[in-house]
Amino acid sequence: VRKSTLSFWFEALTDLIFPPYCLNCKRRLPVRQLPLLCNDCGNAIPYITSPYCLCCGKPFSTGKDHLCGACLNDVFLFNRARSALSYSGRIPFLICAFKYGRDLSTLSSLAFIATQSRAYKELKTPDIIIPVPLHKKRLQQRGFNQALLLAQAIFPQWKKRIDYHALVRHQNTIAQTNLNHAQRKSNVSGAFLVKNPKMVESRRILLVDDVFTTGSTANECSKNLLSAGATEVEVFTLARVIKI
Ligand SMILES: [Zn+2]
Ligand SMILES: [Zn+2]
Repeated sequence: VRKSTLSFWFEALTDLIFPPYCLNCKRRLPVRQLPLLCNDCGNAIPYITSPYCLCCGKPFSTGKDHLCGACLNDVFLFNRARSALSYSGRIPFLICAFKYGRDLSTLSSLAFIATQSRAYKELKTPDIIIPVPLHKKRLQQRGFNQALLLAQAIFPQWKKRIDYHALVRHQNTIAQTNLNHAQRKSNVSGAFLVKNPKMVESRRILLVDDVFTTGSTANECSKNLLSAGATEVEVFTLARVIKI
């Protein structure tokens, strides 16, 4: 009881010295809440909803859920991919604040937002959660793996299932940002390696990353996991780039 009283006063004091602000528009908030957004910014969160591709999760503007052209041609190897949000509006800004600014209050808000999404609610319970790995050089530069922090923040109930050693990135690829689909595909080709196939064999895997762009990274990871004997690979990303 004493500890919780203390933490109450500590929080009240923190709010007084550092009053809570909306992460997006910086408007003052009456209380510290999750997500740390005002009503206007909270209402503008671009959640992805139906209709979308039953396989890769690509959203459609009208109609019913169906397979997209790429999935009809079996472009992707993963069983399913879903994203909580569209990478639009202020989402790129918030993701960058967390990823490059090491802003952990943004991480907890983004994780909370992810748990409110349809994609999250429809996830099956996985045997293992694998965050897309960074090459060790990139990890040293950044100091953390954003996919691992997201997995830990979004799935605290499955914390013990998170495995960031099973899959490694043994090739340091160049940043994908300015590459087209074909270049992205060849850039990540052969970049990953299943270090411990026993860990993934006959397991249902949930692969987690921050952003799904062309799906090349998720696909390359899936290729490795499935050839190492994984039963199923489901991909969950916080956001997805949607080309119109
Ligand atoms: Zn706001
Ligand atoms: Zn598709």
